[in-house]
Amino acid sequence: MRLFLSRLHFPVTTLGPGRRVGIWFQGCSLHCPGCISVDTWAHGQGETTVAEVMRTISLWLAEADGITLSGGEPFEQVDALQALLETLRREIGPGKDLLIYSGQPWEKIAPHLARWPGLADAVISDPFLRSAPQTLAWRGSDNQRLHLLSPLGHERYTAWQHALREALPKALDVCFEGDTLWMAGIPDPGSLALIQRTLAEAGYASTATDGSLEGPSSISVPVFA
Ligand code: SF4
Repeated sequence: MRLFLSRLHFPVTTLGPGRRVGIWFQGCSLHCPGCISVDTWAHGQGETTVAEVMRTISLWLAEADGITLSGGEPFEQVDALQALLETLRREIGPGKDLLIYSGQPWEKIAPHLARWPGLADAVISDPFLRSAPQTLAWRGSDNQRLHLLSPLGHERYTAWQHALREALPKALDVCFEGDTLWMAGIPDPGSLALIQRTLAEAGYASTATDGSLEGPSSISVPVFA
């Protein structure tokens, strides 16, 4: 099964509990105003296969507490998402949860998840809403809902359903790939601009629209779906 991904990474510590494998889907047509993952909007890039994904992440699974699938919009590749979830569930072993971020309303994705019992443990649904407060743990805006779908999901996420982001360490995952620097996590309002200013002061050129910096290095921010 082919699919289009933006990136794979381990460890991700800011999008779900513990040290996680991060799988970012490529392609999102929702275009939420204020999205800082604009680099994941374009469709048709990053073609790979479920088998190739599994080959890459197999190196990390023994140390991972769970897997976070984000984007981009995972449900815009719904057949590939199902195939990937089926393979992950079969191969990752017990005790590792599968968390999906989707910008779609829960009511739209729930029918898919109802057909996939046991494949996902938790889902954070709904689009990023720039005007909404940003107080809840692991959510980019407070309109986003955390759904618990399995016993493991309940065990691991119940305490977080209404928990405030203050309960978590103030952190972003910062990663270097060649001459590119990118971040995962959910920055506080305004902190992305501060990061851009800081990098600009260090001599990195900045582009205005997508939170990325271009020049000798760049920063991309694949954060909340
Ligand atoms: S916030 Fe998520 S759902 Fe919204 S446009 Fe960005 S990638 Fe798409």
